Amino acid sequence: MTRLENDMEGQTNISFRKWLGTMEPWQWAQSFDEGFRYGQMTTNLVDGINAVLLKTRHLPIPSIFSAIFYRLATLMPRMGQQQVNQMDAGHMFVEYVRDAMVANRQMARSMNVEIYSRRNETFRVTETIDRRPDIPPRSYGVDLRNRQCDCRRFQTLHYPCAHVVAACAKVSLNVDQFIDEVYTLERTLRVWENEFPVLPDLST
Ligand SMILES: [Zn+2]
Repeated sequence: MTRLENDMEGQTNISFRKWLGTMEPWQWAQSFDEGFRYGQMTTNLVDGINAVLLKTRHLPIPSIFSAIFYRLATLMPRMGQQQVNQMDAGHMFVEYVRDAMVANRQMARSMNVEIYSRRNETFRVTETIDRRPDIPPRSYGVDLRNRQCDCRRFQTLHYPCAHVVAACAKVSLNVDQFIDEVYTLERTLRVWENEFPVLPDLST
């Protein structure tokens, strides 16, 4: 939080800073939401609703409701089937997290890991490929028991960052056990398997 305040110090937009200051950090900063939003920021949700209303906003209110209802009613089975297909193909986690883990595994290959505990719970992970030649390689403390990494991605997003992947690879631990169960297809299917009732067409 102190770092964020320091970063904002140089901002000339004082009214914006004041406006943010009227709200609690968990309401607008992902790193303070304690995992309740899992990557869904309010602005993304507003954009999602906007996408639904974009083609219907010129219509009367009852027609807008019908359009939203129809879109959701047909979206549910379509998305549900997509999840089932992925489960049938042997996948356990949602595609977004699977892709992120592939990228993390790739990055983890170029990291050095030192084991700090006999029970394989704490590590220091050093990036050997630095992003800029004038910056020394960074190192991060990883704590598997408390599910934390100094980069903060692990505790913020609730799936392993590249440093955690590197640490697990070093001691042959299955890294998938550190992916939160909200990212399993089984859990997301619980949302999409809901069904909407078929309503009579009132215009006929
Ligand atoms: Zn990390």
